[in-house]
Amino acid sequence: MKITNLKATTVTLPLESPLRHSNGAHWGRFVRTILEVETDEGITGYGEMGGGGESAELAFAGLKPYIIGHDPFQLEALRFKICNPTASLYNNRTQLMAAVEFACLDIIGKKLDVPVYQLLGGKVRDEVKFASYLFYRLPNEQTGAGEVRTIEQLLSHAKDLKQKYGFTSHKLKGGVFHPDYELECYKALAAEFPEDRLRYDPNAALSVEDSIRFGQEIEGLNNDYFEDPTWGLNGMRRVRSMVRIPTATNTVVVNFEQLAANVLNPSIDVILLDTTFWGGIRQCIKAAGVCETFQLGVAVHSSGELGIQLATMLHLGAVLPNLAFAGDAHYHHLQDDILVGGKLRYENGAIKIPEGPGLGVTVDKEKLAEYAELYRELGGYTYDRDPARPDWFAYVPNQIWADHV
Ligand SMILES: [Mg+2]
Repeated sequence: MKITNLKATTVTLPLESPLRHSNGAHWGRFVRTILEVETDEGITGYGEMGGGGESAELAFAGLKPYIIGHDPFQLEALRFKICNPTASLYNNRTQLMAAVEFACLDIIGKKLDVPVYQLLGGKVRDEVKFASYLFYRLPNEQTGAGEVRTIEQLLSHAKDLKQKYGFTSHKLKGGVFHPDYELECYKALAAEFPEDRLRYDPNAALSVEDSIRFGQEIEGLNNDYFEDPTWGLNGMRRVRSMVRIPTATNTVVVNFEQLAANVLNPSIDVILLDTTFWGGIRQCIKAAGVCETFQLGVAVHSSGELGIQLATMLHLGAVLPNLAFAGDAHYHHLQDDILVGGKLRYENGAIKIPEGPGLGVTVDKEKLAEYAELYRELGGYTYDRDPARPDWFAYVPNQIWADHV
């Protein structure tokens, strides 16, 4: 089989409300680029990548000379064709490779009429559990609803998500307001859901000292882990030495060099595997194998996804024996998806592993066209700026917090 064409389409899909984070915000929608890989056997595979807009479409077009004519079954060779480590110094193609890998696995699964997890060693579970992903939110621009700023609003949002989707683990995305206020919010969540698990992720906005202070205050709570409170392997190591909660990251261990450094001189206890950041589902499985060997924890990270990427997270979660935490997904904040049948459904806080051939999800061509048109209308947004604070940008560690009153 040979790849005959690649086609990238950037889409934008509305969120319920703008989601704030330590570097800015998702301004009420996600921008994602959908990749279609066509073959000489008439089978098309789908991949997905975050953000980028027109530059992502151009970057995929630039891959054509490397990929056209390649056999989609030859994935390990393709990795070196696109991401040879020396060549990668000059062009950052790891995330593009991930989208191409998703599409090739989709093609292989469709050709062999098996779900992707069967190509990856077979599933060890039928569903992947997810955490509620609690963001501080700005009001929806059209309706004015959905704001999350006060503790009352946060608790009511968390209760609503738990009731709708059945989550029993809650992640608070912080780094927006002063750490003292976010600490109050986190403790309020713990008091509201005494049976549930918790995790806090301020996207590395805190100083080492504030991280230690925050961490020591929550040591007695039902924590999954303490996710990227501060920046850097050395900062995280200092936090880890002073706080009795497992540390986790999706920022400073996102490749094998960093994983090796972390094994030799531990900073991080739980590695959050992102199918895009690591360059594909297969790279995440290899990383999970290293983690299994050294008895580090793993979980599934979300960098914002539509249904194609979500399917990659589900197939990854399906095959990892050492997945002992609920995964993260932004998915429930979306108003719609580009899949036939609409959004995949949560049941008791989990999503079932797709059983159809390939990734097991089918792209709705009309929806793809509709949201590509919406992208052409609205364009991109500045992910690292907050619409509520137009003059602000983030320092590391941050010292200038949004106003919560
Ligand atoms: Mg994170």
